[in-house]
Amino acid sequence: MMNKDMFLQAINSICDEIIENKEYLNELDTKIGDSDHGTNMARGFSEAKNKLEINKDKDMSTILKIIAMTLISTIGGASGPLYGTAFLKSSIAIKDRYILESSDFIKVYENIIDGIKQRGHAELGHKTMLDTIIPAYEAFKLSLTQIDDLKIASQKATRAAENGMNKTKDMKAIKGRASFLGERSIGHIDPGATSSYLIIKCVDQVIQKG
Ligand code: ADP
Ligand code: MG
Repeated sequence: MMNKDMFLQAINSICDEIIENKEYLNELDTKIGDSDHGTNMARGFSEAKNKLEINKDKDMSTILKIIAMTLISTIGGASGPLYGTAFLKSSIAIKDRYILESSDFIKVYENIIDGIKQRGHAELGHKTMLDTIIPAYEAFKLSLTQIDDLKIASQKATRAAENGMNKTKDMKAIKGRASFLGERSIGHIDPGATSSYLIIKCVDQVIQKG
Protein backbone atom coordinates (compact mmCIF):
# COMPACT_ATOMS: atom_id res chain seq x y z
CA MET A 1 0.00 0.00 0.00
CA MET A 2 0.94 3.63 -0.20
CA ASN A 3 0.03 6.02 2.62
CA LYS A 4 0.02 9.81 2.56
CA ASP A 5 3.60 10.05 3.78
CA MET A 6 4.86 7.78 1.00
CA PHE A 7 2.74 9.70 -1.48
CA LEU A 8 4.40 12.98 -0.50
CA GLN A 9 7.83 11.35 -0.78
CA ALA A 10 6.96 10.05 -4.25
CA ILE A 11 5.75 13.41 -5.56
CA ASN A 12 8.78 15.16 -4.11
CA SER A 13 11.16 12.69 -5.63
CA ILE A 14 9.42 12.99 -9.04
CA CYS A 15 9.95 16.77 -8.91
CA ASP A 16 13.64 16.37 -7.96
CA GLU A 17 14.26 13.68 -10.59
CA ILE A 18 12.75 15.76 -13.40
CA ILE A 19 14.71 18.85 -12.33
CA GLU A 20 17.95 16.79 -12.15
CA ASN A 21 17.36 15.39 -15.63
CA LYS A 22 16.59 18.72 -17.29
CA GLU A 23 19.69 18.72 -19.49
CA TYR A 24 19.35 15.06 -20.42
CA LEU A 25 15.71 15.50 -21.49
CA ASN A 26 16.68 18.58 -23.49
CA GLU A 27 19.43 16.57 -25.20
CA LEU A 28 16.96 13.85 -26.21
CA ASP A 29 14.55 16.52 -27.51
CA THR A 30 17.40 18.11 -29.49
CA LYS A 31 17.67 14.92 -31.58
CA ILE A 32 14.01 14.73 -32.62
CA GLY A 33 12.35 17.94 -31.46
CA ASP A 34 13.09 21.48 -30.37
CA SER A 35 15.37 20.90 -27.34
CA ASP A 36 12.91 22.10 -24.73
CA HIS A 37 11.40 19.01 -23.09
CA GLY A 38 13.75 19.22 -20.08
CA THR A 39 13.29 22.96 -19.69
CA ASN A 40 9.51 22.61 -19.99
CA MET A 41 9.32 19.76 -17.48
CA ALA A 42 11.78 21.27 -14.99
CA ARG A 43 9.83 24.54 -15.03
CA GLY A 44 6.58 22.68 -14.32
CA PHE A 45 7.92 20.35 -11.66
CA SER A 46 9.87 23.00 -9.75
CA GLU A 47 6.63 24.98 -9.47
CA ALA A 48 4.85 21.73 -8.50
CA LYS A 49 7.41 21.27 -5.71
CA ASN A 50 6.59 24.73 -4.36
CA LYS A 51 2.87 24.02 -4.53
CA LEU A 52 3.39 20.67 -2.78
CA GLU A 53 5.14 22.36 0.12
CA ILE A 54 2.27 24.81 0.60
CA ASN A 55 -0.48 22.21 0.16
CA LYS A 56 1.02 19.13 1.83
CA ASP A 57 -1.71 18.95 4.48
CA LYS A 58 -4.44 18.54 1.87
CA ASP A 59 -5.64 15.07 0.82
CA MET A 60 -3.84 13.15 -1.92
CA SER A 61 -6.50 13.66 -4.56
CA THR A 62 -6.57 17.43 -3.99
CA ILE A 63 -2.76 17.60 -4.11
CA LEU A 64 -2.75 15.80 -7.46
CA LYS A 65 -5.34 18.22 -8.78
CA ILE A 66 -3.29 21.23 -7.67
CA ILE A 67 -0.21 19.73 -9.33
CA ALA A 68 -2.20 19.08 -12.51
CA MET A 69 -3.26 22.73 -12.69
CA THR A 70 0.30 23.85 -12.02
CA LEU A 71 1.70 21.63 -14.77
CA ILE A 72 -0.94 22.77 -17.26
CA SER A 73 -0.13 26.42 -16.64
CA THR A 74 3.68 26.12 -16.51
CA ILE A 75 5.06 23.28 -18.68
CA GLY A 76 3.79 24.42 -22.07
CA GLY A 77 4.61 22.48 -25.25
CA ALA A 78 2.78 19.31 -26.17
CA SER A 79 3.71 17.64 -22.92
CA GLY A 80 2.17 20.27 -20.61
CA PRO A 81 -1.49 19.50 -21.30
CA LEU A 82 -0.68 15.77 -21.51
CA TYR A 83 1.03 15.56 -18.10
CA GLY A 84 -1.58 17.94 -16.73
CA THR A 85 -4.28 15.55 -17.91
CA ALA A 86 -2.38 12.58 -16.44
CA PHE A 87 -2.24 14.18 -12.98
CA LEU A 88 -5.83 15.40 -13.18
CA LYS A 89 -7.06 11.93 -14.14
CA SER A 90 -4.98 10.44 -11.30
CA SER A 91 -6.63 12.88 -8.91
CA ILE A 92 -10.05 11.67 -10.04
CA ALA A 93 -8.99 8.02 -9.76
CA ILE A 94 -8.08 8.35 -6.07
CA LYS A 95 -10.86 10.67 -4.97
CA ASP A 96 -11.77 10.01 -1.30
CA ARG A 97 -8.96 7.45 -0.89
CA TYR A 98 -6.65 7.81 2.09
CA ILE A 99 -4.49 4.75 1.49
CA LEU A 100 -3.66 3.53 -1.98
CA GLU A 101 -3.86 -0.19 -2.75
CA SER A 102 -2.99 -2.09 -5.92
CA SER A 103 -6.52 -1.60 -7.27
CA ASP A 104 -6.11 2.18 -6.92
CA PHE A 105 -2.93 2.08 -8.96
CA ILE A 106 -4.75 0.11 -11.66
CA LYS A 107 -7.41 2.79 -11.76
CA VAL A 108 -4.76 5.52 -11.85
CA TYR A 109 -3.01 3.84 -14.80
CA GLU A 110 -6.28 3.36 -16.68
CA ASN A 111 -7.37 6.95 -16.15
CA ILE A 112 -3.96 8.27 -17.20
CA ILE A 113 -3.87 6.22 -20.38
CA ASP A 114 -7.46 7.15 -21.33
CA GLY A 115 -6.79 10.81 -20.62
CA ILE A 116 -3.56 10.99 -22.63
CA LYS A 117 -5.14 9.13 -25.55
CA GLN A 118 -8.19 11.40 -25.53
CA ARG A 119 -6.03 14.50 -25.49
CA GLY A 120 -3.26 13.54 -27.88
CA HIS A 121 -4.89 10.88 -30.09
CA ALA A 122 -1.73 8.75 -29.97
CA GLU A 123 -1.61 4.97 -29.68
CA LEU A 124 0.97 2.40 -28.62
CA GLY A 125 3.89 2.42 -31.07
CA HIS A 126 3.61 6.09 -32.04
CA LYS A 127 6.85 6.94 -30.18
CA THR A 128 5.41 8.93 -27.29
CA MET A 129 5.09 8.75 -23.51
CA LEU A 130 2.37 6.12 -24.05
CA ASP A 131 5.06 3.65 -25.16
CA THR A 132 6.39 3.77 -21.61
CA ILE A 133 3.09 4.04 -19.73
CA ILE A 134 1.03 1.36 -21.53
CA PRO A 135 3.62 -1.46 -21.15
CA ALA A 136 4.08 -0.46 -17.50
CA TYR A 137 0.34 -0.75 -16.94
CA GLU A 138 0.10 -4.09 -18.75
CA ALA A 139 2.98 -5.54 -16.71
CA PHE A 140 1.50 -4.15 -13.49
CA LYS A 141 -1.91 -5.68 -14.17
CA LEU A 142 -0.48 -9.03 -15.29
CA SER A 143 1.70 -9.27 -12.21
CA LEU A 144 -1.30 -8.70 -9.92
CA THR A 145 -3.24 -11.51 -11.58
CA GLN A 146 -0.32 -13.83 -10.78
CA ILE A 147 0.40 -12.64 -7.25
CA ASP A 148 -1.33 -9.95 -5.25
CA ASP A 149 1.81 -8.04 -4.29
CA LEU A 150 2.16 -4.31 -5.00
CA LYS A 151 5.95 -4.30 -4.65
CA ILE A 152 6.41 -7.04 -7.22
CA ALA A 153 3.86 -5.47 -9.58
CA SER A 154 5.53 -2.09 -9.29
CA GLN A 155 8.97 -3.56 -9.92
CA LYS A 156 7.72 -5.35 -13.04
CA ALA A 157 5.94 -2.20 -14.22
CA THR A 158 9.13 -0.20 -13.87
CA ARG A 159 11.12 -2.76 -15.83
CA ALA A 160 8.46 -2.74 -18.57
CA ALA A 161 8.49 1.07 -18.56
CA GLU A 162 12.26 1.11 -19.09
CA ASN A 163 11.99 -1.47 -21.81
CA GLY A 164 9.18 0.47 -23.49
CA MET A 165 11.19 3.67 -23.32
CA ASN A 166 14.18 1.96 -24.93
CA LYS A 167 11.98 0.51 -27.66
CA THR A 168 10.96 4.01 -28.78
CA LYS A 169 14.47 4.25 -30.24
CA ASP A 170 13.50 2.02 -33.16
CA MET A 171 10.09 3.59 -33.69
CA LYS A 172 9.08 6.16 -36.26
CA ALA A 173 7.22 9.05 -34.65
CA ILE A 174 3.58 9.31 -35.71
CA LYS A 175 2.45 11.98 -33.26
CA GLY A 176 3.98 15.18 -31.92
CA ARG A 177 6.77 17.35 -33.23
CA ALA A 178 9.07 14.37 -33.86
CA SER A 179 6.63 13.12 -36.52
CA PHE A 180 7.73 16.01 -38.77
CA LEU A 181 11.03 14.12 -39.14
CA GLY A 182 9.38 10.98 -40.50
CA GLU A 183 11.97 8.21 -40.95
CA ARG A 184 14.67 10.44 -39.46
CA SER A 185 13.00 10.16 -36.07
CA ILE A 186 14.16 6.52 -35.98
CA GLY A 187 17.31 5.88 -33.93
CA HIS A 188 16.56 8.19 -31.00
CA ILE A 189 14.79 7.56 -27.71
CA ASP A 190 11.67 9.68 -27.23
CA PRO A 191 12.06 12.43 -24.59
CA GLY A 192 8.48 12.12 -23.28
CA ALA A 193 8.85 8.35 -22.97
CA THR A 194 11.95 9.05 -20.89
CA SER A 195 10.30 11.56 -18.54
CA SER A 196 7.45 9.09 -18.02
CA TYR A 197 9.95 6.37 -17.13
CA LEU A 198 11.64 8.67 -14.60
CA ILE A 199 8.25 9.33 -12.96
CA ILE A 200 7.32 5.63 -12.77
CA LYS A 201 10.78 4.84 -11.35
CA CYS A 202 10.37 7.41 -8.56
CA VAL A 203 7.00 5.99 -7.53
CA ASP A 204 8.49 2.49 -7.55
CA GLN A 205 11.42 3.51 -5.34
CA VAL A 206 8.99 4.71 -2.66
CA ILE A 207 6.84 1.57 -2.96
CA GLN A 208 9.92 -0.67 -2.56
CA LYS A 209 10.97 1.16 0.61
CA GLY A 210 7.47 1.10 2.14
P1 ADP B 1 6.90 20.01 -27.79
O1 ADP B 1 6.92 18.79 -28.66
O2 ADP B 1 5.70 20.86 -28.01
O3 ADP B 1 8.20 20.77 -27.86
P2 ADP B 1 7.82 18.73 -25.35
O4 ADP B 1 9.15 18.77 -25.99
O5 ADP B 1 7.74 19.25 -23.96
O6 ADP B 1 6.74 19.47 -26.27
O7 ADP B 1 7.26 17.24 -25.31
C1 ADP B 1 7.52 16.31 -26.33
C2 ADP B 1 7.01 14.94 -25.91
O8 ADP B 1 5.60 14.94 -25.79
C3 ADP B 1 7.31 13.85 -26.90
O9 ADP B 1 8.59 13.31 -26.68
C4 ADP B 1 6.20 12.84 -26.71
O10 ADP B 1 6.55 11.82 -25.79
C5 ADP B 1 5.09 13.65 -26.11
N1 ADP B 1 3.99 13.80 -27.05
C6 ADP B 1 3.92 14.67 -28.07
N2 ADP B 1 2.73 14.53 -28.72
C7 ADP B 1 2.05 13.55 -28.07
C8 ADP B 1 0.76 12.93 -28.22
N3 ADP B 1 -0.07 13.32 -29.18
N4 ADP B 1 0.41 11.94 -27.38
C9 ADP B 1 1.25 11.55 -26.39
N5 ADP B 1 2.46 12.09 -26.18
C10 ADP B 1 2.87 13.07 -27.00
MG1 MG C 1 10.03 19.94 -27.41
